[in-house]
Amino acid sequence: MTAPIRQHLIDPEICIRCNTCEETCPINAVTHNEDNYVVDPAICKACLDCISPCPTGAIDNWRIVRQPYSLDEQFEWDELPEEEEGLSLEAAPAGEAEEALEDEASRLLAEAHAGLGGKSKAPASASTPYVNLYTRAEPAIARVAGNFRLTEASAESDIRHIVLDFGSLSFPVLEGQSIGIIPPGEDAKGRPHHVRLYSVASPRDGERPNHNNLSLTVKREVTLADGVRYEGVASSYLCDLKRGEEVKVTGPFGNSFLMPNDPEANIIMVCTGTGSAPFRAMTERRRRRREMRGRLLLFFGARTTGELPYFGPLMTLPDRLIQKELCFSRLTDQPKEYVQDRMHKKGEAVAELLREAKTHLYVCGLKGMESGVTEALQDLCRNAGLDWSSLSTAMREEGRYHVETY
Ligand code: FAD
Repeated sequence: MTAPIRQHLIDPEICIRCNTCEETCPINAVTHNEDNYVVDPAICKACLDCISPCPTGAIDNWRIVRQPYSLDEQFEWDELPEEEEGLSLEAAPAGEAEEALEDEASRLLAEAHAGLGGKSKAPASASTPYVNLYTRAEPAIARVAGNFRLTEASAESDIRHIVLDFGSLSFPVLEGQSIGIIPPGEDAKGRPHHVRLYSVASPRDGERPNHNNLSLTVKREVTLADGVRYEGVASSYLCDLKRGEEVKVTGPFGNSFLMPNDPEANIIMVCTGTGSAPFRAMTERRRRRREMRGRLLLFFGARTTGELPYFGPLMTLPDRLIQKELCFSRLTDQPKEYVQDRMHKKGEAVAELLREAKTHLYVCGLKGMESGVTEALQDLCRNAGLDWSSLSTAMREEGRYHVETY
């Protein structure tokens, strides 16, 4: 019997037939007739280059199938077929299943970078990252060196600073990369849980310099639905870890959302919540190297000071290292302020930096923040006589504009 595979498909109901995917695909796997854009299963290598440029997300569809849908079948579709019952990649031979899981991390990253509106590119001066060193079949085993609550005890959200120690195992990371966590146990269908990605919150030389460790900033995800409390699988697992416990880690992942090594580079960072993790790593890298030449400008939003991760340590960082624009949406004595509001207020300063060819802009956090931040950038650019649409395209192509939202 043929082992199941993951087939890349385009949703005909959402696709606006703009041809972006066909133009982007480096190996001509995407084609079209007068009705539909389709992916040729015999050619597609799931490189994911086409995912982020697609303006609608129609391109990001996948089905686990035993027999791939042919081009002729796809040309006929008005909508995507239902998922086939009972098929999973875990039924595939080890090699194939492993490949599919690697794909999973790439797919998650491609989705996280989709808001960029085009192919994500690393800064020209970034170091070359290591990726995919450890897999589900051969994960790195790390030990929990610390797990501290960052948000105040009274705060609604439980965000944690978790330090993982890799002992004598080599696990090289760069600021901006993510790692995969394999939660123990199985899902409701009896399959192993899928890998979740978490941004590294410490610089490349470790949470503790020159110790083989790294840190994460993890929010316990909780949803209340019809009076029932559902806790996220991986985030609860991580937030409940005790010192000394072992964790299975895959990765590292990510080869574009990286920091410039150029000490003259200005870095504008826009984040909410755990989106601060990569910016903590970048800021700490600059602080340790005593690089105060390029400017660091941070826009960071939270509900209250008690819910802003690293609020205390951030306040101690000198203004000559980093300009902090912290804003809060639920302070009882102040009107609501979101990151985009503060960006509007500081519009001239942001535009001044955006004019410089050494400025890099990063946005990280929840998907929901993207539209407000983009509008703020459009407005502040317009007010300064700049065109955000062409500027963002140029910055993206030069590896100076980065979005990672989840
Ligand atoms: P899941 O188990 O996947 O559940 C997802 C949500 O559904 C949860 O809110 C859960 O409460 C809810 N839910 C579960 N069951 C039900 C049900 N039956 N009914 C209704 N709701 C339900 N996260 C961080 O905290 N820090 C990071 O630095 C970070 N970096 C990331 C970087 C990247 C590139 C990406 C893609 C994601 C990142 N994430 C980060 C998000 C992270 O990967 C996880 O998606 C997140 O922690 C939730 O995973 P989970 O397993 O806890 O939740």
